Amino acid sequence: MGKIEGIINSFEATCENFANRVLPLLPGQKRILLLANKSGVAFYFVMSAIMFFVSTFVVIPFNHKIEMNDPTIDSSGPTPTSTWILSFFIGSMMLNYLRAYFTSTFYDAGKLNVPTAEGGKNWGYCVPCQQYIPPRAHHCSVCNHCVLKRESHCFFLGKCIGHTNQGFFVVYLFYCALSSLFALLHMGMYLHHVIGPIVSLRMHHYLIPFATYRWIMGSFATTDYVMLFLLYNTLMIGLGCSFLFFQQISLILQGQTSFEAAKRVILYDSGAHMNLQDVFGRYWWIRFILPIKLPQPVDGIKWSRVKDIKRY
Ligand SMILES: [Zn+2]
Ligand SMILES: [Zn+2]
Repeated sequence: MGKIEGIINSFEATCENFANRVLPLLPGQKRILLLANKSGVAFYFVMSAIMFFVSTFVVIPFNHKIEMNDPTIDSSGPTPTSTWILSFFIGSMMLNYLRAYFTSTFYDAGKLNVPTAEGGKNWGYCVPCQQYIPPRAHHCSVCNHCVLKRESHCFFLGKCIGHTNQGFFVVYLFYCALSSLFALLHMGMYLHHVIGPIVSLRMHHYLIPFATYRWIMGSFATTDYVMLFLLYNTLMIGLGCSFLFFQQISLILQGQTSFEAAKRVILYDSGAHMNLQDVFGRYWWIRFILPIKLPQPVDGIKWSRVKDIKRY
């Protein structure tokens, strides 16, 4: 019994350490995480480029010709409205992604010249950085920095999400979900014409094993086979981003980070409206139209509206 308890305690300590990034990772673990970090960023750029070019130059023009019932329409004609809409979604997604990447959310007491470097109420101490850190800040072993109001590390962004870049990250998720679902709709229409309706006796033609068999036998064109793969890939990205977007909005409205939600602790809930402003600034809705940064009411270091510890 004591042995099992020991194993559980050691497992909990490992999870706690991983979540808080208190201790440095082993060199092997760090190499794997850094590789995952680079691969995630590469995957994002490759998939975004494929989604944009395939939708803009293959799928939308094809669907446009079918819609207009005119196979003679060529690329010199007016750009279909769907191309403009997708370009706006992907452009907004990319700009918010870049702003989330380049907006530093790291905490360095020396550089920021913080007078309370010796620590204050609710402050912690980061062993790897050897500095006192403000409430809600945590160390990230992948970024190798302390992060203000650390939300989590995103491997597709290659950086941590924290106090100053969370707004850009959430808007990026919003447009990533919209772009994917919009591209998915058009890929679905394309395959509808090529394969047939998905809800029909030809439903099994949409299954990858059957499509692979047909492709090997030469009865399914390579372009359409690749499009089927892209359809599933885009579906997963769209659903994943939608889920993450709603999860982030729910956490923001409750004034929590993922870590605080996992620990079932509410410390910084100032009401849904103020919580939104803490992340996006006063006119939060502008952030969903323009990729600009608005002044946030809190600096990420002093959390003056700290409430007494409440547990569910
Ligand atoms: Zn640190
Ligand atoms: Zn990080």
